[in-house]
Amino acid sequence: MLEQDEFMNLSKMNFDISEEQALILEQVDRACKEFRPIEDRYYLERKINDQIRPFFAKAHLLGLPVSRKYGDGQGADMVTYALAVERIGREGTGVRTFFSVHMALGQMTIQHWGTEEQKARFLPPATRGDAILAFGLTEPNAGSDPASLTSYFEEKGGKYYVSGQKMWISLGSSSKYVLLFAYPKGKREGMYGFIVDTESPGFKAELIPHKLGLPTADTSTLYLDRVEVSKEDVLGPPGKGMPVALSGLMNGRLSVAAGCVGVIQDCLDEAVRYAGVRFQHGKLIGKHQLVQRHIGLMSTNLEASKLLLLKAAFIKQKYEENPKSTELRDATDLACTRAKYFAANASFDAANRAVQVFGANGYSLENRPARHLADTRVTMIYEGANEILEQKLALGSLGRGFEAYS
Ligand SMILES: Cc1cc2nc3c(=O)[nH]c(=O)nc-3n(C[C@H](O)[C@H](O)[C@H](O)COP(=O)(O)OP(=O)(O)OC[C@H]3O[C@@H](n4cnc5c(N)ncnc54)[C@H](O)[C@@H]3O)c2cc1C
Repeated sequence: MLEQDEFMNLSKMNFDISEEQALILEQVDRACKEFRPIEDRYYLERKINDQIRPFFAKAHLLGLPVSRKYGDGQGADMVTYALAVERIGREGTGVRTFFSVHMALGQMTIQHWGTEEQKARFLPPATRGDAILAFGLTEPNAGSDPASLTSYFEEKGGKYYVSGQKMWISLGSSSKYVLLFAYPKGKREGMYGFIVDTESPGFKAELIPHKLGLPTADTSTLYLDRVEVSKEDVLGPPGKGMPVALSGLMNGRLSVAAGCVGVIQDCLDEAVRYAGVRFQHGKLIGKHQLVQRHIGLMSTNLEASKLLLLKAAFIKQKYEENPKSTELRDATDLACTRAKYFAANASFDAANRAVQVFGANGYSLENRPARHLADTRVTMIYEGANEILEQKLALGSLGRGFEAYS
């Protein structure tokens, strides 16, 4: 039995990582530094960055949370993994979203729910970057309420034929497989999870233009017209697609929280650097107390977000080691939700403050704060909009019987 206060007492937690795991972080840091000018160029040209996959595949960093048993899996523990995604987050939410979707929503979900055969088939190419993974839950009329989705499948001759439309799907146009959720035709229960090959006849993806931010990230609408899926490609127990989808979102939240911590760090670094070189009223702006206020608040939010992230990663690691424990699942879910909620809001606040410290220069996309401001806004919407997470967090304290909706 878990002690209730085991996860309320930070002193019982240990965020140390081994020397071997530290090497992974050094490798991530080196790759990120090298990748920065590439992302800069794509960002200013407002083009989807198609170099993320080949670049990070070459650096052997596309399988961080996957067991070493599978292809290029790095077997990072959850604390190392979170720190790695945090580092990637400093490069921008567009780059980090690629990793969140491919690794957290894709690989980790297959690793948790997949059969041994599915893991052996899908994970090695995914870790090598030969097969990018996406996650298709949202539809034009089903966002915060995924149970209301209308994609459906028919079963015929031992095969499934999936039809419907998915919207706002990250990596929808660049993935090889999409983890996709649909109901049996004519039913509103018994959802299935499928691993759908995007090269199948009847599958079409279209990029969504004119986004507020994330110009370098592929966000797409998917159209499925009787796309054939074999029985071997059902993910999770038949009819249990909803728990599969929810566990994917939990993985995703840890990853978004990590990325947001990276964004706050980058905004703080940029603000400190600029405050140390820009003079107004005869002194460095960093010596003006109201500018110091921005820096002090950003640094405090950074530390609070990071502690929530590490706590969530620590509990998630325990859950990884005991995947059948429903208590650990619930504790992980709550901790990931809290970390994501806090860090997302704090990252937007940090980007806003960094823009303010930069003044007019902060308004230029040539400078990193403006990009973070446009890009990190999405973290208050995807993987659970703020309002949905607030209700989830409240339920963690109020307990069952206080659900705002079913
Ligand atoms: C750039 C981007 C990438 C994305 N990538 C993916 C992806 O890879 N895969 C995927 O499946 N989805 C993806 N999404 C979709 C995302 O997960 C949804 O946008 C999100 O779940 C919210 O759904 P919605 O946009 O339909 O908003 P809605 O659900 O329509 O909500 C609109 C507003 O109403 C509020 N609201 C809704 N219900 C309640 C309630 N019960 N109580 C209080 N307030 C409520 C919401 O909080 C929100 O403020 C992505 C979205 C974006 C913008």
